[in-house]
Amino acid sequence: MNVEQRQLKEWISTYPLLQPIMNLKPVVWLNPKLKKMADMNNLPVSLADMEKAEQLWQRFAPFLASEFPDTAEANGIVESPLREIPNMKTQLNDRFTDNIEGLLFLKCDNELPIAGSIKARGGVYEVLHHAEKLAIDAGIISTEQSYEQFSSGKFKEFFSQYSIGVGSTGNLGLSIGIISAKLGFQVFVYMSADAKQWKKELLREKGATVVEFKGDFSEAILAGRNETLAKPNAYFVDDEKSKHLFLGYSVAAFRLKQQLNDAGVQVDAEHPLFVYLPCGVGGAPGGIAFGLKQVFGDEVHCFFVEPTHSPAVLIGLMTGAKNKVCVQDFGIDNMTEGDGLAVGRPSSFASGISEKTVSGIYTIEDQQLFSLLTLLASSEGIFVEPSATAGLLGPLKIQASDYAQVNKIPMNTATHIVWATGGALVPKEEMDGFYQRGNEDLGV
Ligand SMILES: *Cc1c(COP(=O)(O)O)cnc(C)c1O
Repeated sequence: MNVEQRQLKEWISTYPLLQPIMNLKPVVWLNPKLKKMADMNNLPVSLADMEKAEQLWQRFAPFLASEFPDTAEANGIVESPLREIPNMKTQLNDRFTDNIEGLLFLKCDNELPIAGSIKARGGVYEVLHHAEKLAIDAGIISTEQSYEQFSSGKFKEFFSQYSIGVGSTGNLGLSIGIISAKLGFQVFVYMSADAKQWKKELLREKGATVVEFKGDFSEAILAGRNETLAKPNAYFVDDEKSKHLFLGYSVAAFRLKQQLNDAGVQVDAEHPLFVYLPCGVGGAPGGIAFGLKQVFGDEVHCFFVEPTHSPAVLIGLMTGAKNKVCVQDFGIDNMTEGDGLAVGRPSSFASGISEKTVSGIYTIEDQQLFSLLTLLASSEGIFVEPSATAGLLGPLKIQASDYAQVNKIPMNTATHIVWATGGALVPKEEMDGFYQRGNEDLGV
């Protein structure tokens, strides 16, 4: 829909923050519809669904361990480390007027095996879920048997009759392409014009077919969905409304709980947990926030981060129009260098849930992404892609808002987790370019 002038005027007067958003200014929005756990009913997914998703990951672990050597050490469990980043904390404290209270950790999804980004959670899960269903329906596997059989020639031949399609700016395409090709599926990745050349090449190398589209991510999805659904035996991974992607992301919460335990970090009313998640369509941050709420309840506070040029979920949740509006309706161009965040329209499935689970959303300028990338690399030796740095401003942004005061949350005993969403597959020359650019912006 195109927003009518009358509606737009009304929104601007009801939601004054819309004006700076439309002027591409960085903003912090606190969600007035955030629900306490006790009032969070009628969600389309549950803790039991998350547990089932975790069991599916466990069933496939022997297959993943044998097909992807980088998962072997963890016995086929796809998970990333949680690292404390004290040097980065010092850097942030030195550069900004306020000091971060509490502990600062980085959740290193940039190191996730298989796809090198957060998409190794949702994307891989959805394809495994689909593969399992096909195999069970065909009577060639049961959940009691070892899934190492999925590596066999017989299974690969079976899956070669089926195809999988996905529309993507890059990272989702990589994860779907890599896991689908490994299982033996024919896989088609519909990519938008802004997708990086190296991602297209890597996908082709892994055995996926890349179909290029002019226009943005939503158009690539639309074209991909139509072409895929017109084929027999084809399945489309739909980033704009997928429950399976969402559940694949959500299990991160179980793993994080264990990691915090291992690190001796408590989470309770006296020790709140703050999590900052870069946001595109909202599926990954939405799934993780949902999972965290199931695991930590009201003691976890989840914030999403979007580029100033792509505040799709922010506008969708603030106005309540969700996927009915896109950033272009507000004169915003959706041009950002944050791969994975260049999304104009939110996921309908995720938005309906995040509306109740997310504490707030802030926006960040592209230039900051590069500065933060360089600061993180130089202080901690951790290289992530630009999008993955967006959460690093979270602690200071939220401290500067009245969130803690209004909700009576102690901040000096808080733990902050910045979700680093990708980076491992970025070629070195690209990464050097990002680092240089950050250096220039920092005036070093
Ligand atoms: C996809 C992606 C995100 C956001 O995930 P959505 O489900 O689109 O909200 C964040 N960071 C990176 C690096 C991504 O690839």
